[in-house]
Amino acid sequence: MNCDQMHPRDMIRPELKDLAPYEPGRSIAEIRQELGLGTVVKMASNENPLGASPLVKKTVQRRANLIFRYPRPNSPDLTAALGKHLDLPQDRFVVGNGSDEIIDLLIRVLARPGQDNIVIFDPSFSIYRLQASLCGVSLLQIPLNADFSFPFSHLLANVDRNTALVFLTNPDNPSGYTAHAEDLVSLARNLPPTAVLVVDEAYIEFADLPERYSPLSRLDELDNVVLLRTFSKLYGLAGLRLGYGIMPAWLSDLLHRVKLPFSVNLLAEAAGLTALQDAFFVQASREAVLQGRRVLTKDLQQLGWTVYPSQANFILVKPTCPAQSLIHDLLHRGYIIRGLDSYGLSDWVRISIGTEVENRGFVQACRAIQESYA
Ligand SMILES: *Cc1c(COP(=O)(O)O)cnc(C)c1O
Repeated sequence: MNCDQMHPRDMIRPELKDLAPYEPGRSIAEIRQELGLGTVVKMASNENPLGASPLVKKTVQRRANLIFRYPRPNSPDLTAALGKHLDLPQDRFVVGNGSDEIIDLLIRVLARPGQDNIVIFDPSFSIYRLQASLCGVSLLQIPLNADFSFPFSHLLANVDRNTALVFLTNPDNPSGYTAHAEDLVSLARNLPPTAVLVVDEAYIEFADLPERYSPLSRLDELDNVVLLRTFSKLYGLAGLRLGYGIMPAWLSDLLHRVKLPFSVNLLAEAAGLTALQDAFFVQASREAVLQGRRVLTKDLQQLGWTVYPSQANFILVKPTCPAQSLIHDLLHRGYIIRGLDSYGLSDWVRISIGTEVENRGFVQACRAIQESYA
């Protein structure tokens, strides 16, 4: 090619050429406008049905007069509070602009471009794949078992000396399947000595018994395990962007050296501190989700639909009518749910648990749609 005809576009990193952006759930404003609907209920992005804690909203308002200040780098007040909250040393915590930022940092710190690989299940949360390809790290995807459980021995047969990271989500998204803590501990112990296991626990607080599924209390014995948690789901702060990783001190030290110092803003840190203190709101959110999950599961099963047993704040459902038409018909009745084409599960939909009233209206809409197909 004649260099005179080149353009800055011709210089982009080759791994970016085919990169499709993250596909979010559709927003309420978008659907309201498109369909001219009054109220629209979003049960698509696993947000907290109760919103955010009233105490947190007060904190954010009170702190508004401080937003001309820079935050302190690496959110020391919040890492200290998290240490107290989970009874672990403060130096195990890295707070990020959502747990998405921690995923990105882990890949950039631990995986050598063009040399190392990352192993994940298929399907899994798209951010692992997107950030790996952005970083020029090769990705190996191990298909889930047909019942959505984790094929641990197949995974172990496919890791090698160049495996830098293994990511899995527990409870899993979009199935809600949840592995037991001892299986994760044994996976970590059986990985090659250079590989780190990242357990994304975005939904762990919605499990019936989180301690049965999380290796949190075993972290002292494990130097190659990272847990990811978020304020986006149980704490209802998805829009503020706040998440954290729990990891060995050698690794948190590295992440803190690489991380942009002010990625967590002043309001997000203040909100996180208050959110940890509002035990009443957390308890109410958990109960709303556990109760709603039971009711929605039972009611949709009564329509003859398959509902996968979930420990998360959403359920994976296979309706008897075509999933695409269900999504379309529900939209026209004011309910947004998540289609799963991008996960390769086009017969299934993912439904986030709503409030009691939302769940009841949703089931009524599903019943009416089901009857229109009968
Ligand atoms: C929602 C979700 C998160 C949370 O991401 P944030 O960046 O903290 O909002 C992380 N992992 C999975 C699998 C999720 O579904």
